[in-house]
Amino acid sequence: MEFKAGKKIYEGKAKILYETADPDLLIQEFKDDATAFDATKRGVIHDKGIVNNRISAVLFRTLEDRGVATHFVRLLGDRTMLVRRLAIIPIEVTVRNVVAGGMARTFGLEEGKRLKQPVYEIHYKSDPLHDPLMNEEHAVAMGLAAPEELATLKERSLRVNRYLIEFFSPKGIDLIDFKLEYGRYKGRIFLGDEISPDTCRFWEVGTGRKLDKDRFRRDLGGIEEAYQEMLKRVES
Ligand code: 5GP
Repeated sequence: MEFKAGKKIYEGKAKILYETADPDLLIQEFKDDATAFDATKRGVIHDKGIVNNRISAVLFRTLEDRGVATHFVRLLGDRTMLVRRLAIIPIEVTVRNVVAGGMARTFGLEEGKRLKQPVYEIHYKSDPLHDPLMNEEHAVAMGLAAPEELATLKERSLRVNRYLIEFFSPKGIDLIDFKLEYGRYKGRIFLGDEISPDTCRFWEVGTGRKLDKDRFRRDLGGIEEAYQEMLKRVES
């Protein structure tokens, strides 16, 4: 079946979602637009949409092969993939292996310290509130998700962390942390959104060179090169 983009149903900071002729399926398009700090900083990363589409496709396939249900169906074009139409749960999950970013700030820790065990966090997905850290009691009390769903999110996210570490280690990439989003589809929970240098921290093993969106957030330069380097390693 040929899938054509129909009505635009959502445009976010980095992606657009379009309806298709099939009510269960959407087209997810990746943009070159980059934002940081709740969109107070804006820019363009040349070809980022292409890189993130391709990296996400490989990682979703890798996870599917290991039994993780994701919204990914197949690649359509340079910047587009066909995905299942999830009802997104407004929770951002992060998993951390090494202290960086928000965890360094929140707990006054030095970036780069390896954690004794992975840290699983949930955040309330809200730009105006800056995605505040929350716990499962908040999520249940606020009606965001049921306790069994939260148990699934945690178990699945820690499994995703193990699979991604296994994937990236032989490629000389240290997976520092990442963010995941989930949604409901036909009574089950699926991994949605994207997995890319926009949503993960990737440090080159040996040099510590940052190969992710922190180059944009922190004005480190060499942004396009870093994204292309990640694409090369992911597809190698
Ligand atoms: P932190 O909480 O340290 O800012 O982010 C932890 C990890 O999750 C990083 O890899 C970061 O890229 C990702 N992350 C967390 N929140 C967001 C978000 O709102 N947008 C994007 N693109 N990534 C996020």
